[in-house]
Amino acid sequence: MTAYSRADALAADAADPLAGRRDAFVLPDGLIYLDGNSLGPLVRASAARVTGTVTDEWGQGLIASWNTAGWMDLPLSIGDRIAPLIGAGPGEVVATDSLTILLAKAIGAALALRPERSTVLTDAANFHTDLYILEAMARRAGRPLQVRALERGDLAGALDDSVALVMLTHVDFRTGEMLDLAGLTAQVHRAGALMLWDLAHSTGAVPVDLTGAGADFAAGCTYKYLNGGPGSPAFLWIAPRLVGEVANPLPGWLGHARPFDFEATFTPAPGIRGFVTSTPSILALAALDGALDAFDGIDPAALRAKSLALTDLFIALVEERLPGALALVTPRDHARRGSQVAWRHPAAYGIVQALIARGVVGDFRAPDIARFGFAPLYVRYVDVFDAVTHLAAVLEAGEHLDARHATRRAVT
Ligand SMILES: *Cc1c(COP(=O)(O)O)cnc(C)c1O
Repeated sequence: MTAYSRADALAADAADPLAGRRDAFVLPDGLIYLDGNSLGPLVRASAARVTGTVTDEWGQGLIASWNTAGWMDLPLSIGDRIAPLIGAGPGEVVATDSLTILLAKAIGAALALRPERSTVLTDAANFHTDLYILEAMARRAGRPLQVRALERGDLAGALDDSVALVMLTHVDFRTGEMLDLAGLTAQVHRAGALMLWDLAHSTGAVPVDLTGAGADFAAGCTYKYLNGGPGSPAFLWIAPRLVGEVANPLPGWLGHARPFDFEATFTPAPGIRGFVTSTPSILALAALDGALDAFDGIDPAALRAKSLALTDLFIALVEERLPGALALVTPRDHARRGSQVAWRHPAAYGIVQALIARGVVGDFRAPDIARFGFAPLYVRYVDVFDAVTHLAAVLEAGEHLDARHATRRAVT
């Protein structure tokens, strides 16, 4: 067998049905961007949409734009554009706040639906903000609640009729491991508990079917694979069968049924709108709205097929060219793999810094993980090939041990 060549990668790009979508993005010349799982690149339509919102809607329309430019409905109209990416229906998703805040709202709403139950379960390896907010909301639930952070795989044994809520992240931010969303939801439901999914590393990268899985609550951020821009608003979905029963634990006037009646008591707007709290950031929503154009007309199956092909190729090339140098952390099994590949190495930080110096952007996750995200809308097969060439050069020359790559910066 002849080794996979750069010409093979170029041929794969030429045959790629998603190849044309790369032009929708601003990608600096010569840069190989494998960090779209942390901050997606700028979508051209997003820049244009923000400029129009600033100059026309804000600049000229001023306050009238709340009515005439659709500002009041933006959290829901954008939610409707995210819905197909997560298997949700129209009117079921709202884009507002940030992810940690929306997790707080979902946790508070869910805990109130199971007042007789005393345990909350999550994953010990969950993203730290998820653990902090879960602990904090459990303490404020108005009854004693025990939060148990389990080792992966221990869920089945811990599920009993004391469990009110299980909160899990669908794709692990460190390892890229993807959980069985439908299977775990069913398992949690059999114990009579509710399920909250964090879709931070899923949305826009892997197929998600919340309706098909019969899930209860889900939230995610939009600045990763959805490319909504730094700090772009997050989204929240609540199953239609529950949304009429739950209360927003952080009620505010823009989730009121009649915000401009200025009533002293809170009457929630019907449906997911009741989970809006305050005046949304219209500029941030405009950026996100434009960014979602990049997903228009995209077949989720094609997206998933390319994501798996890119991550398969990256794993195969690293193992072929650098046998034994790095330990693969991400599952090989397609059913358990998200859209990133993580490797363990004692000098992972230096490796990532040395690659960045060469124009290959991945990121580092403490203590020893080098992580590479593969966003199928703009990453090419030749980028994968060239990234591995750079990685091999870094390790062969010992660039990762260079002192200039040893100082940790605030954002890794
Ligand atoms: C990125 C990420 C977050 C970020 O939360 P913010 O409130 O948007 O800062 C939270 N949870 C997970 C699992 C993430 O991957």
